[in-house]
Amino acid sequence: MKIVLLGAPGAGKGTQAQKLVEEYGVAHISTGDLLRAAVKAQSELGVKAKEYMDAGKLVPDELVIGLVKERLAKDDAQIGFILDGFPRNTAQAAVLDTELAEMGVALDGALLVDVAFDVIVKRLSSRRTCRSCGYTAGPTVTVCPRCGGEMYQRDDDKPETIQKRLDTYQAQTEPLIEYYDGKGILIKVDGDRPVDEVYVDVKKELGL
Ligand code: AMP
Repeated sequence: MKIVLLGAPGAGKGTQAQKLVEEYGVAHISTGDLLRAAVKAQSELGVKAKEYMDAGKLVPDELVIGLVKERLAKDDAQIGFILDGFPRNTAQAAVLDTELAEMGVALDGALLVDVAFDVIVKRLSSRRTCRSCGYTAGPTVTVCPRCGGEMYQRDDDKPETIQKRLDTYQAQTEPLIEYYDGKGILIKVDGDRPVDEVYVDVKKELGL
């Protein structure tokens, strides 16, 4: 399984990715998680990335692409991978095409988790995320049910940043839907349903 996940922030890409990873053991490559880890470690890259993330903007391509290439080269990604949050614009999609061609692999699909923006705004503003493993849940969950870590509200899930992230998504990431449709590998699922129902569809559409 080698797939790209598409969809607005908060559409449920990460949740569906986690379920696929648990069931099929493929690598979950989330650029948001990789960047948050760099911010937490206060690495040079993390310090640079933070200002863009806090502003709801995309981190410059040259910072993100290196992270993804490094991750794709690891052993677990050779079995299969789910790219979650990458590519985020057409330039990143072109780099990914080149990288995968060099690795001699082809994408099985680009899976769009489709959710209306008004639903997204509600979801993001009530979302809490585990500081340790990235698990997400609603506002009443204070301890991560998966690893026991602390649940917190991401800075960019605060109302003042949500709209900016959606604007960024619309301007830069949404064109990728057409990009992958043009390649004949776009798969669409309705993400405005309970997680397990969406997952049934995801598996069906991926032929699993
Ligand atoms: P996410 O967890 O995918 O919502 O990502 C959180 C933030 O990390 C985004 O709002 C961007 O600032 C940054 N980010 C994540 N993935 C990328 C990417 N592929 N390209 C540029 N910035 C990214």
